[in-house]
Amino acid sequence: MHSVLQDRFGRSIDYLRLSVTDRCDMRCTYCMPEGFGDYEEPGDWLSFDEIERVVAAFARMGTSKFRITGGEPLLRRNLSVLAGRLQHLDGVKDLSLSTNATQLAKHAASLKAAGVSRLNVSLDSLCSERILNITRRDALASVLEGLLVAKSCGFSPIKINMVVMDGVNEDEIDNMVAFCMSHGFILRLIETMPMGETGRNAGFVDLRPIRQRLQSRFGLVDGVVAGGGPARYLVAPEGGFSIGFITPLSQHFCETCNRVRLSVDGTLYLCLGQEHSFALRPLLRAGVSDHELDEAIRSAIDIKPERHEFREQPGKIIRVMSSTGG
Ligand code: SAM
Ligand code: SF4
Repeated sequence: MHSVLQDRFGRSIDYLRLSVTDRCDMRCTYCMPEGFGDYEEPGDWLSFDEIERVVAAFARMGTSKFRITGGEPLLRRNLSVLAGRLQHLDGVKDLSLSTNATQLAKHAASLKAAGVSRLNVSLDSLCSERILNITRRDALASVLEGLLVAKSCGFSPIKINMVVMDGVNEDEIDNMVAFCMSHGFILRLIETMPMGETGRNAGFVDLRPIRQRLQSRFGLVDGVVAGGGPARYLVAPEGGFSIGFITPLSQHFCETCNRVRLSVDGTLYLCLGQEHSFALRPLLRAGVSDHELDEAIRSAIDIKPERHEFREQPGKIIRVMSSTGG
C-alpha cells in the first residue's frame, strides 16, 4: 500500500461515496426538481469494471470505507453483483448503502449476501400523505416493507435519515424517535443544505434546539456510534438507543471531513458545497495504468477545498444532491 491519501489540510480521505446512478424514482422536494430530466447518458455511466478500478485505487491508497449511493442506487441493474465485486477488493473494509428503500424488499437479501453491511434509509415522515407531498410518490408502504425485510435479513445497524423541514415534518420528530426505538433503528436528523433551488427552498431548521430538547426529554448523553460520517450522536446511557444530528449549517464539520464523492459519470467531487472536481472517466477510457490512476486521484485530493460556504454563499451550488451522489 502507498502512503495514505491526505489533503492539503492534513485530512485523511478514508471514505468514498460512490454514485451508481443519478436517476431516482422519487422527487424529494429538497433534492430533485419535480420535472428533472437532466441525466447523464448511459454511455457516460462508469461501467462496473470502471467503478471497480476506481474503488481498488482508493483502497490501495488507504481508503477503507465505501458507500453506494445515487440518485436511487437500487435502480442500477445488478447492483448486488457490483457490491459483491467491491466487497472482495483488498482494503475494502466497510461497504454500505444509502437508499430510499422503495425497492429494498426485493433486493435486501441479495445485497446482504453480497457483503453490504450497513444501510441508511431515507424516511422523512410516517404519514403517507406527507410522504406523497415530500417525495411526490405514494411510497410509504413500500418503504416500510423494505425496512422490515432488511431488518429480517439481519442488516445492522439500519439508520433512518430524516431531513427536518420547517412546517413540513418538524412536528413528527418525537413519533419518529418512538418508531426507531421500537424497531432498533438509529435515527439521524439532517439539516437541509442549499444545493440547487430545491435545497435552498426546503425550509431549513437549525437542529441545535431540537437536540437540546430531545436530550433532556429522553435523558440522553453524548456518545459515539460506528460509521464513517459527520453525525454527532446522543445515546441512552444504558444503551439501546441513539440519535444522530447532521448539522452542516449550524455546526459545520469541515475540519474533520474525510470523504470525496464519485458521480455516475466518473467525476470526483471534492466537496458538496464547492465546484472543485476532477474527471476520471476520460483517463479510465484512455487506458491509464494503475500508477497513473493513483497519481490522478492524488492530484484530485490536492484540490479538495478547506470548507463549504453554504452559509456565506447559499446561492453558489447549482448541482442538486442526486446528481452529485448524496
Ligand atoms: N436516494 C437515496 C436516499 O434518498 O437515501 C440515496 C441518495 S440521497 C441524495 C442521499 C441523502 O441525501 C438522503 O438522506 C437525502 O435525504 C439527502 N439529501 C438530498 N438532498 C438534500 C439537501 N438538499 N439537504 C440535505 N440532505 C439532502
Ligand atoms: Fe431520490 Fe434520494 Fe434525492 Fe429523494 S433524496 S429524490 S430518494 S435521490
